[in-house]
Amino acid sequence: MASKAYDKSFREEVYEKVDSGEEIKLCMQCGVCGITCPLRDEMTYGPRQIWSLIRAGKREEVMNSPDIMLCTSCYACKVRCPRGVKVIDVMHGLARYALQQGIVPRKETAKFGKVFWDCIAKTGRIDETDVPMRYSLTAGPIHGLFNALEMMDIGRALLSHKRMKFKLGPGIPPAKKIKGIRGLKKMLKKAAALSPGKES
Ligand code: SF4
Ligand code: SF4
Repeated sequence: MASKAYDKSFREEVYEKVDSGEEIKLCMQCGVCGITCPLRDEMTYGPRQIWSLIRAGKREEVMNSPDIMLCTSCYACKVRCPRGVKVIDVMHGLARYALQQGIVPRKETAKFGKVFWDCIAKTGRIDETDVPMRYSLTAGPIHGLFNALEMMDIGRALLSHKRMKFKLGPGIPPAKKIKGIRGLKKMLKKAAALSPGKES
């Protein structure tokens, strides 16, 4: 249910602290981004309304909206926006800002993001078999097993087209690391030290 609270400071806070938050100032509320978005039926508000809520100071609605974690960076909105607003950057910036404050607007996205990030940080690449397996198991081994059975046809097709490697389980055999993995780890460590909390 929508909260009645209006927080006048929220708008300035977004402009100042959210990555690319100032982009919202460019928006003329035409609604093209919302109509263009392939996830519009999954979203409650969509980007245009999220910007409106920010301008109105509706902190709770924005910070807890799963919409800000639903953006898949397809770039459809960015391409069509008449004002060139970096919609994707703002959506991801809002999601990161919520997470930094301990708010998880969409748990499944956060879980998948962690598995995805862990794989990159450990090996320097995305292992297309390990990531879905590990993600399935975040809901427990029984769920993981049922999910694997459900996805069996897709898995078989991916294997037959060499789009996926066969594995007995997550990390069996271990995902291959890139050659420069040490350098990458050093870079990530340095980036984390420069921007605490932004690695999530
Ligand atoms: S398409 Fe651009 S200008 Fe139009 S509502 Fe979306 S962000 Fe605003
Ligand atoms: S980039 Fe994100 S917000 Fe924009 S159209 Fe694609 S999914 Fe929707």
